[in-house]
Amino acid sequence: MMDLHAKSMTELIAGLDSGEFTSVELTEALLSRIAAHNDKLNAFVTVTGDEAMAAAEAADKARAAGKGGALNGLPIVHKDIFCTRGVKTSCGSKILDNFISPYDATVVEKLANAGAVVLGKANMDEFAMGSSNETSYYGAVFNPWDLECTPGGSSGGSAAAVAARLVPAATGTDTGGSIRQPAALTGTVGIKPTYGRVSRYGMIAFASSLDQAGVITRTAEDAARVLGVMAGFDERDSTSVDHPVPDYVAGIKESIEGLKVGIVRQHFDEGLDPDCGDRVRDAIAVIESLGAEAVEVDMPNIDYSVPTYYVVAPAECSSNLSRFDGVRFGHRAENAEDLMDMYCRSRGEGFGDEVKRRIMTGTYVLSAGYYDAYYLKAQQVRHLIADDFKKAFADVDVTAPTPAFRIGEKVDDPITMYLNDIYTIGANLAGLPGMSVPCGFVNGLPVGLHLVGHHFEEQTLLRFAHQYQQATDWHAACPEDFQ
Ligand code: GLN
Repeated sequence: MMDLHAKSMTELIAGLDSGEFTSVELTEALLSRIAAHNDKLNAFVTVTGDEAMAAAEAADKARAAGKGGALNGLPIVHKDIFCTRGVKTSCGSKILDNFISPYDATVVEKLANAGAVVLGKANMDEFAMGSSNETSYYGAVFNPWDLECTPGGSSGGSAAAVAARLVPAATGTDTGGSIRQPAALTGTVGIKPTYGRVSRYGMIAFASSLDQAGVITRTAEDAARVLGVMAGFDERDSTSVDHPVPDYVAGIKESIEGLKVGIVRQHFDEGLDPDCGDRVRDAIAVIESLGAEAVEVDMPNIDYSVPTYYVVAPAECSSNLSRFDGVRFGHRAENAEDLMDMYCRSRGEGFGDEVKRRIMTGTYVLSAGYYDAYYLKAQQVRHLIADDFKKAFADVDVTAPTPAFRIGEKVDDPITMYLNDIYTIGANLAGLPGMSVPCGFVNGLPVGLHLVGHHFEEQTLLRFAHQYQQATDWHAACPEDFQ
């Protein structure tokens, strides 16, 4: 039982079903791994050991009685953006450092109902704003492949925990790449489904028209298992779409022969690290050897995705974050002179620099004199980008322009940091599903292959990724210190 942590969810299900080990043994093993390794990684904000052991016991009992859901007894971790009843939900911010959620997010509820065992809450960029996990109030997360590098962000804690084999799956959220980019930088699998596919109820809002929940795992098959539980209509989220959820796990077995994929010409232009480009070209060759047809496609407006996003997302966040005012929950400044002073000081003390930068940018682009020039224009360009995707086929490219960068390297230069999202943001602006799959290494650091599909075609992405993983073993590589 030495290597329980190395097993995928699919392997763990087989072991639990055959009685080789119990969920209690598995949960104990992973909790002690977290205790041994988390100091190096800072991947967890909270570890819920007692609750996890109780859930594991319940799962073992259910299994013995022939009951239990699709993920019965399987450990997972939630990004600390999801509200968890009775457990601190900080969103990586000082302003929510004292916030104990009174309710569960739909995602949390669904996974619990399926029998998943929650080991804790993962560190993240403050309010999911960042590409490196350096904006967290709880400090940076470190990349298991090189502890001097960032794991990417904003779901950096989730990605680092999965890459270091502390847990087989972790939830994440993706507003402009925050599942796919950290997955790429840590050699894990990350999927952001179609906007509206997974409920946003109880997921702390950053930019509501872009935010989507998803999952980080080590294999596409595991991602299919977890996403199948998370997805589905929720009347508590007005943007949730009532569209049947297919059996993702069954769907991945089909071959990808005859599938047509577009390779976005603009994504191989300058700005892409040449070695990362080579890994992706190698991956495309593998895809072709599996019978898919790769064709080059043009997306003339895709270069505008970063400036468009960095108008729309701050605009929405400036509105969403107005609720954190020190009145109903979260940090409240002491010794305020009057109500306005209390608002200003609570927000001034509670938010970090990147969040303040976004709120100021967002307020500016929404202000009367600039609304048409910035916000309206960005919404128009957003449509053009969505049209570009419609004209192209499901597309394939690289997830991030470079492998993991060093901690501190970009954090003082917001524009360089924002440019890191160049390949992922388009899918959020168009509401499309996107996925990252490990496709090799550059100087010992992982590179991600990026897949984007048509609306509600998550199963095509999962199938594609699974078939690719059957033909390659990049996903099996494990960082040396976390074997
Ligand atoms: N890096 C992007 C940002 O900083 C995306 C973040 C996200 O997807 N949550 O906004």
